Amino acid sequence: MARHSGGRGWYGKLVGAALGVTVLAVGASVWTAQADAVGGSSPKATASPPPGSDVERVAETIAHASDAGARGVNITIDDGPDPAWTPQVLDLLREYGVKATFCVTGTQAQAHPGLVKDVVAAGHRLCDHTVSHDTAMDKKSEAYQSQEILDAERMITKASGGVRPMYYRAPGGAFTPYSRELAASRGMRPLGWNVDTKDFERPGADAIVETVQRELPNGPTILFHDAGGDRSQTVEALRRVLPWLQEQGYSFGFPVR
Ligand SMILES: [Zn+2]
Repeated sequence: MARHSGGRGWYGKLVGAALGVTVLAVGASVWTAQADAVGGSSPKATASPPPGSDVERVAETIAHASDAGARGVNITIDDGPDPAWTPQVLDLLREYGVKATFCVTGTQAQAHPGLVKDVVAAGHRLCDHTVSHDTAMDKKSEAYQSQEILDAERMITKASGGVRPMYYRAPGGAFTPYSRELAASRGMRPLGWNVDTKDFERPGADAIVETVQRELPNGPTILFHDAGGDRSQTVEALRRVLPWLQEQGYSFGFPVR
């Protein structure tokens, strides 16, 4: 996960060169807040900008740090949205006042656009988790990787009502230098994790909680799932982990971009 690519690819240069202004023609307040947070001047959107002109390149290295500082943690929720589990996760996050990052697939976003809008409306951020969640995509062609990432970007942005994913997380961590570069050129910071709760394997809520408590010294970005099967253990674990983290003096943030 510590691989670095050389310079910027041709695609990034192209997008960078086309970036005259940062026009955010999206009404959602969360998006406005994000624009302010990165220090962009916010010219009022007037005529519709050409495609891609609202995209600002980000770094292509894999992010793990939290924007909430030394005692900040990033809750990341992967593979949804799912009508059975995502609403329960959203309820818990609201109860504890936690903002999280949802790594959604294009397929799930397209199937459940209302849930994507719910995620955004609650102040959470979106992450592109590809169209079809192929954990062997790093072994496949660049054309395939591009399609998986860019099609998902479009599907997610459409489902959200225009709010773009701010991160890219390769399924199973199957990043390549090419895919990181491509995502970065589209304003999506490659996103890793430090604590894999293994909740996907359903080891029991106790084990999920203990994994967080034991492995948090590894770093601030914690991986959970809200789809792909029965996630009741994940919901139960979050119900205990979120207050525990608060009691330990952690605050909740977003991964750096
Ligand atoms: Zn995943």
